[in-house]
Amino acid sequence: MTEAGCLDMRSRRTRHILTLGCVPGEFLDAAVDLWRADRVDQSMRTGESVLVLVDQDATTPAEYIQTLLAIDHYSSPVGIIPISKRSSDLNQLVRLLGDETIHIDISRSRFRLTETAEANFPSAPPVLSRARQGDPASVAEDLQADLLVLQGHAGPVDAGFGRWLTLCSRHLHQPGEPPTFPCFDTYQCFRQKLHGRSPFSKEGLFNPTHLTSSLAIIDGCGTIPVPGSIFNYETSIARCVMESQVRAAVMTHGVSASPLSTLIVFLGTLAEGLSLGEAVRGANHHVYQVGSSTSMGGVAAAPWAVLGNPEIKVSGLPLIESVPRSTELGAEYSVDEAFLDSPFGGLVSLLGLSGRPGPFDVTAPDGRWVRGALSARGRTYLWIAGPGPHAKPKAGEQVKVLLSKRPDDPTSCWRRKSKWMQANKVLLHRMADTFTKRGGEEDHFRTLISLWDEISGEAELAAFAVTPLRRQSISPPLTSRTERLDARINALARVTARAIAAAVPVTGARLSRLWLPPWLPAGTVHFSEQCSCGCPLVGDARRHPLLELVRVEMRCPACGSAGDVCGERVTSASGAFECAPTVMGGPKQRAVPAGAAVEVRVRRLGGEETEGFASAALFDPFQQRQVLVDGTGVQPLSTTDLAVTIPEDWPQGLSQAVVAVVVGCEISFLDFDIMVQSRTADPVGGHPEVQPRGIGVKHSAREWRHVDG
Ligand SMILES: [Zn+2]
Ligand SMILES: [Zn+2]
Repeated sequence: MTEAGCLDMRSRRTRHILTLGCVPGEFLDAAVDLWRADRVDQSMRTGESVLVLVDQDATTPAEYIQTLLAIDHYSSPVGIIPISKRSSDLNQLVRLLGDETIHIDISRSRFRLTETAEANFPSAPPVLSRARQGDPASVAEDLQADLLVLQGHAGPVDAGFGRWLTLCSRHLHQPGEPPTFPCFDTYQCFRQKLHGRSPFSKEGLFNPTHLTSSLAIIDGCGTIPVPGSIFNYETSIARCVMESQVRAAVMTHGVSASPLSTLIVFLGTLAEGLSLGEAVRGANHHVYQVGSSTSMGGVAAAPWAVLGNPEIKVSGLPLIESVPRSTELGAEYSVDEAFLDSPFGGLVSLLGLSGRPGPFDVTAPDGRWVRGALSARGRTYLWIAGPGPHAKPKAGEQVKVLLSKRPDDPTSCWRRKSKWMQANKVLLHRMADTFTKRGGEEDHFRTLISLWDEISGEAELAAFAVTPLRRQSISPPLTSRTERLDARINALARVTARAIAAAVPVTGARLSRLWLPPWLPAGTVHFSEQCSCGCPLVGDARRHPLLELVRVEMRCPACGSAGDVCGERVTSASGAFECAPTVMGGPKQRAVPAGAAVEVRVRRLGGEETEGFASAALFDPFQQRQVLVDGTGVQPLSTTDLAVTIPEDWPQGLSQAVVAVVVGCEISFLDFDIMVQSRTADPVGGHPEVQPRGIGVKHSAREWRHVDG
């Protein structure tokens, strides 16, 4: 570990001032002196640092944007100084251009990011998760910060950062001028209604002229008005910031929706001693790399832009370098707990990653919050939370974080689960309808269906998770965030298996007909195993017409229906795609004496890699009597035997049985007929006292008589 706080010692960039429109000579002269400009003309060269003085009255939108794009073409960092003949004064230039360095007291940094969930986890650094504090006092405290970072919904005239902070510039409105917002001449604010307040209320409105932070980042859409556009500089937040005590600001051009990793690249780059203009370029480059929305095709000034001196440097950001130790699981980094012991935590620059291809996931074995990003300059930064307010780190204590390669397609299993949930929804509704039509209890399925509905919304969120697609952002593995959801799905799978088994004596055993829309033929499936009667099983693959799901209907030429199970596409030995069942099984004996147990074997061949549940129901042809075996666990790629004990007084002849096997979101059925023999008959293929073999355990069956109506 080495300290990396020292400022970059590279040679000074040429400082070039450009003007747009008609900038009065006194402003240009002051800017040249204060900023110690090397060049003042309209030509551009590579690698300079550019300060653009923008006359807000005479500059057209196209001129402004074309200039910024040209600056980007020459890879130059850029700062904007709006010049208004009505409202600019030289003091603003002295404040923004008079210094080369801003020092930040990091304990006085505050981040209020209302659009970034991962910044607001309870485990996130307390200064980062300020959007969790929704009260006027915490907002007032934040506005005193040295480094203030705000992110929310914004525009050139107002910007909202939660219920208690709206930056509002309406006080700048001059009577007689056309109002941009209704409140400009009526004092009725349409934002207040959204917060449940009277339109005349001033609660939560803040005039940004009173900002005092040394460095302010105001992220949201378009917080810098484009000159000549429908939003006028004279009544903008940007003008307020120019008139405030802020010494450097980062604001925005056009759409801005920067993920947290953008901020990490920005802070890491600044902490390494690069200039504010370079850090903003790095942040914008990252926004482009991760595919976030922007309104401009150049990274120099969009979406983030420096309002002020692009060459200013920021000291006081805690950054440390760390070299990894290779482990089986990935690269392990250690950081002194003492370094992280603050409400900010600390930034770590990771070394030794040049040979490792990303994307990366990161975890801290002690469970603390950690996020990171890869910068376009090839640096890798982590932001790690401190030990928390109540932990007192011991001298020399080390915090470990593990950087591991992200799986190729971590959301694929959630996409599949979501699709099965969609398909299952139809099945469960149709089963519920059939069940109630035939005299079953009205609410047997209702709660179950609503629980699946609830969970499917969350599964979709996991399926749509964007972070896994962002190679340049480093976050905890998706699996660490879906553990609780997985547990809830498993609990629901168990209940679903039981509910289906309990319903089939009423709905009937042929459940395939309940799938809708009709699944289309998708070829024949070959089985290596046989039915218990010795005949080869026959399978028809069926595919869902919309959802790219497959099922397999299994039959025995002698015994009839054998099941309808979830399938999956596999690659055959010849390289072709084939459909394979994820579950197989059936009774070991087809003829069983009353008083004995039918042994049913359930084999899991594929599908979701989680514990599944099997529930069995046996019922007589009149559907008057039934035996249920409650959900028993069936493990991935293993075999479980269930025993369904037939009561001694069970009617002789044909009975039907169904085993519902629910694995995560995959619902399969095994269904088959059983010939119940008289107690005195010779058992065929079984014995009354036979115990199930295999890894399963015998489950006690319960019986009740179904009463119609
Ligand atoms: Zn308003
Ligand atoms: Zn058979």
